[in-house]
Amino acid sequence: MTHAERRQWDVVVIGAGGAGLRAAIEAREQGLRTAVICKSLFGKAHTVMAEGGIAASMGNVNEGDNWQVHFRDTMRGGKFLNQWRMAELHAREAPDRVWELETWGALFDRTKDGRISQRNFGGHEYPRLAHVGDRTGLELIRTLQQKVVSLQQEDFRETGDYEARIKVFQECTVTRIVKDGERVAGVFCYERESGRFFVVEAPSVVLATGGIGKSFQVTSNSWEYTGDGHALALLAGASLINMEFVQFHPTGMVWPPSVKGILVTESVRGDGGVLRNSEGRRFMFDYVPDVFKEKYAETEEEADGWYEDPDRHRRPPELLPRDEVARAINAEVKAGRGSPHGGVFLDVSTRMSAETIKRRLPSMHHQFRELADVDITAEPMEVGPTCHYVMGGVDVDSDTAAAQGVPGLFAAGEVAGGMHGSNRLGGNSLSDLLVFGRRAGLHAAEYARACGDDRPVVRDAEVDAAAAEALRPFGTGAEQAPQTAGGAGSAGPPENPYQLHQELQQSMNDLVGIIRREEEMAAALERLATLRERAQRMAVEGHRQFNPGWHLALDLRNMLLVSECVARAALNRTESRGGHTRDDFPDMDREWRRANLVCTLADAAEDVRSGRIALRRREMPPIRSDLLELFEKEELIKYLTDEELTTK
Ligand code: FAD
Repeated sequence: MTHAERRQWDVVVIGAGGAGLRAAIEAREQGLRTAVICKSLFGKAHTVMAEGGIAASMGNVNEGDNWQVHFRDTMRGGKFLNQWRMAELHAREAPDRVWELETWGALFDRTKDGRISQRNFGGHEYPRLAHVGDRTGLELIRTLQQKVVSLQQEDFRETGDYEARIKVFQECTVTRIVKDGERVAGVFCYERESGRFFVVEAPSVVLATGGIGKSFQVTSNSWEYTGDGHALALLAGASLINMEFVQFHPTGMVWPPSVKGILVTESVRGDGGVLRNSEGRRFMFDYVPDVFKEKYAETEEEADGWYEDPDRHRRPPELLPRDEVARAINAEVKAGRGSPHGGVFLDVSTRMSAETIKRRLPSMHHQFRELADVDITAEPMEVGPTCHYVMGGVDVDSDTAAAQGVPGLFAAGEVAGGMHGSNRLGGNSLSDLLVFGRRAGLHAAEYARACGDDRPVVRDAEVDAAAAEALRPFGTGAEQAPQTAGGAGSAGPPENPYQLHQELQQSMNDLVGIIRREEEMAAALERLATLRERAQRMAVEGHRQFNPGWHLALDLRNMLLVSECVARAALNRTESRGGHTRDDFPDMDREWRRANLVCTLADAAEDVRSGRIALRRREMPPIRSDLLELFEKEELIKYLTDEELTTK
C-alpha cells in the first residue's frame, strides 16, 4: 500500500489564478472548509501576467455601454459559437465583480472625474477594460490574495487557527482526480520539493488550472500550462468541447530567439499603436473581413479620428478581433513583407509622446528595453503571432460551472470551455475568471454541503493506482510500486522527457498551428502516436526530491492528451472560424456554427499508437430569442442557418 498522507476538506480548488482564488473565496464565504492547491508559488499564475485589463460594461468612459453591447461583442468575437448563456451571465455580472474587487482593495487607474478608467481593446465597441497600467493581472491577484489573508485572519480570531477554513498548498501538483463510483472523492498530488504524495479528500473539486499553451513551441504561456486540468477532467470521465479553437495572439515578441512568444499586450494597439509591414504600409486596412466591414475604418484618417471622437468615426482595423489580426500578420510575412526577424512592425513611437508611453505601457517599455535592447519610445517593435489561449475546455453547465456527467466536479476560467466560442476577446478572460470562479465556488459549496454525512470515500486501491502511475517514469527501482500494463515495457531505447516535450511542441506548432491543412493535421496525429509510444519508454534518473525530469515526464501525459484533442477536432471541423483557420476550407460554414465537437477518453486500446480520444459532434442549443433580438437581422444572416432564422 502506498504511503500518502490524507487530509479532509469540503471543497478542493486546483489552481490559484484568478478563477481558483475567486472560487476558493466564495466557497469559504459559504462556510465550507476549502483547500487550494497550486503547482507553482502562490501568486505565480497566468493571471498575474495579464496586462491589458478586465472587460466590464461599466460605461465610465462611454455611457453608451451596457451588458447587452458587451454580450453582442462577445458573441461576434466568438463567431456565434459561444455558449450564449455563459456569454449572457458574463456580460451581466462582470461590472459587479470589478466593483467587488475595489471593495476588497484593488486600485484601478482613474478617469479625470475619479471613476474607474476603461480602455479600448480589439472587438469591444466601447472603451471597456478596467486596468492598472499594463499590470492589471498583478493587481487582481494581489487583491484576491489579500482577501484570502483577511479571511484567514477572521478564522484565526474565531478558532485560533489561520488555516481552519482556507489553506493553500503551494508547489504541489495534482496528477489524478480520485473517484468513488461516479462521484468525485478527492485529488492525488505530489509536493514538488520533497516528491511526497498526499491525498486531499473532498466531495467537491473545482478545476481552475488555466490553459494548454505549452503544447506549442511559440507561446506566451509559462511552464505550468501543460493542460493538466483538461487532462484531469478527461481522465475523470468529463468531456471537453471546442478544443480545435486555440488563440494565436497577433503580437508576441519575435526577437531575440530566447524570448520568442512573450506577449506584447493588445493595449499597445488599444492606445494607438499601429501595425506596418516592411514597406511601411498600415496593412490591416487590406484585411477587414465582410462580417466586420461596416464597423471598421477604411482610411488612416478615419481610423485616427476614432481615438478622439469615436462617435463620428469607425474603429481602426488594428482593433479587429485577435484571430483576424493574427492571420493578417501571418499573410504579410508569408508574402515577403515581414520585418527582419520574421514578424511585422508595431509602432507607438510616432503616435504618442515618450512620457505617455512610459506612463501607459510601463511593462512593455521595460520588457523591450531589457530583453531586446529596443526603446519603444523611439523605434517600432517587431511582433508576430504566439499561442496564447485555448477557447476549448471542460464542458460545464453554464449557470453552475458543474462539469457535465461527473458529480462533484466543477471548472472555471481558462480550463472551462464554451464561454468564448471560437475566439476570445481581449479582457474577457479576467472577467470570465471572476464571474465563473464565483459561480463555481458557490455551487461547489452547495454540492458539498448537500452531501452531508454521505461523503464519498477515497479507497486505497485508487491511491495505489495513482501512485503507480506517477512512479512509472522511474522504472521498477524507485519505490515498490506496482507496474501496470503498458508501463515502461515497449521495445526501444529509453526516452528523455525533455526531448519528447520539444518534439511535441514543434509538431503542434508546425502542423496544427495558426493555418491548418488536412495532410498536416493527419501527420500531427501520426507524430502524436509515435510520441505516445516513445513516452512509454520514458526514463528519469534520481529521486523524487525536486526532480524536474520527473515533473516533465508527468506533464507529458497531459500534453499528449490535450494535443490529440486539438488535432482531432481541428481535422474534423471542415471550415474556418475564429481560432481555427483551414487553408483547405477557408470559409465559415453556417451549418458548422450549430456544432460543438466533444472529446472524451476512448475505451482503452490494446495498441498504444491508437488514439486515446473519442470525438463526437453535438448540436448547440438554440440561442434564446430575446438575446437574438439584440442583433440586426442582416448580421444574423451571416451566422445563422435559414432554418434558425425562420424559427427565431
Ligand atoms: P491561471 O491564472 O493560469 O492559473 C492556473 C493555476 O493552476 C496556477 O496556480 C497553476 O499553478 C495551477 N495548476 C495548473 N496545473 C495544476 C496541477 N496539475 N496541480 C495543481 N495546480 C495546477 N486576459 C485578460 O482578460 N486580459 C489581459 O490583459 C490578459 N493578458 C494576458 C497576458 C499574458 C502574458 C497571458 C499569458 C495571458 C493574458 N490573459 C489576459 C489571459 C488570462 O491571463 C488567462 O486566461 C487567465 O489568467 C487564466 O486564469 P485561470 O485562473 O484560469 O488560470
